[in-house]
Amino acid sequence: MSEQKFNSAMQRHQPCIEKVGSKIDSLYLHIPFCFHKCHYCDFYSIVPSQANAQEKYDQFTERLISELAWLMNTTDAKPRMIFVGGGTPTFLPAENWRSLLAAMRQQGWLDTMTEFTVEANPETVTAELVDQLVAGGVNRMSMGAQSFNLEHLKTLERWHDPRKVTLAVDLARKAGIANLNIDLIFAIPGQTLDDLERDLEVAMALQTDHLSYYNLTYEPNTALKQKLAMGQVTPVDEDTEAAMYELILDRMSKASFEHYEISNWCKPGKPCEHNLVYWTNGNWVGAGPAAASHVDGYRWKNQPSLGPYLSSTDQPPVMDVEHLPADQRVGEVLMMHLRLRQGMPMDRVESLIPNGDWRYDKISELSNLGLLEKSDGYLRLTHSGLLVGDAVLGELL
Ligand code: SF4
Repeated sequence: MSEQKFNSAMQRHQPCIEKVGSKIDSLYLHIPFCFHKCHYCDFYSIVPSQANAQEKYDQFTERLISELAWLMNTTDAKPRMIFVGGGTPTFLPAENWRSLLAAMRQQGWLDTMTEFTVEANPETVTAELVDQLVAGGVNRMSMGAQSFNLEHLKTLERWHDPRKVTLAVDLARKAGIANLNIDLIFAIPGQTLDDLERDLEVAMALQTDHLSYYNLTYEPNTALKQKLAMGQVTPVDEDTEAAMYELILDRMSKASFEHYEISNWCKPGKPCEHNLVYWTNGNWVGAGPAAASHVDGYRWKNQPSLGPYLSSTDQPPVMDVEHLPADQRVGEVLMMHLRLRQGMPMDRVESLIPNGDWRYDKISELSNLGLLEKSDGYLRLTHSGLLVGDAVLGELL
């Protein structure tokens, strides 16, 4: 980023921060370390060199604590939810977690918190770590299983032993974390419907309250996308992918899970409250390199680079500071909110979309195609619409 662009982003960031105040619902923290880069991943993360890894963790923890202190002093934020993602949050050593959580408590971040989720890679979950997390206030864990099939994990270049998922879930439960999510991926090259059914059976046997099941996407600038371009992997064909999603819908329904978002299922009353903030276009603020924030249509992102982050003080280096134009905001609110199975209340749809807006015709067109429906006072995706959810919702942007 040029110096001029950087200075302009930093200047535009200040008024955004002033808007945070009591408005935010959630705090997101980005821990940018992984022990290996999975081939499908486009999140910002680095694999620290063994020679100076602990030094990096210490510097990062200290800087994250100072960013949080600056954020709290500047905004007096009162989030109900905290979500720690990455990277691999559970790769950060227990001692660094201890310092981070103690500082967060002392700064007041936990005063209003009801849900505190940490994403975990099963390979890095230890009894010492989960005890530390629970002592520090963490009450929910999202376990990145992705698949229980060793071959499919290899295809994803995901380095963990699938048996470790069960062990990690047990450790979390023993430490007192009852609220658990399992993250899975489907449509992995080489995966069949039978393979998927087996993954689902293992996931169900873990008896967690939440399951996220996303289809594999080939993100630009990932190793997997390159392999695809070179013909080294063959994607699952569209019909099989649709059949896989139908199978997941069926099995999750039989297991009495509530399907509350296109790719998310939960036991009654156990949705991920943090992710609901994203889907309902609520307000959240992020800390750590690459963390994004959104407050009332203002969006910004911390630069995805550890070096500049560590050398900054107080306000972190930011980029992509923008205030969405009204029309774009309407599109984004609709696109996110309609991911929820409940849909969007019709009175909210009508108060959001200006009279005469082209989206009314588009909604009618999509309804006539059987992809959207209005019922019980809500606008929502139909069953057919779900199967092509991203494409349908993209029409309303
Ligand atoms: S562990 Fe997660 S964040 Fe790290 S490379 Fe793999 S998918 Fe990406």
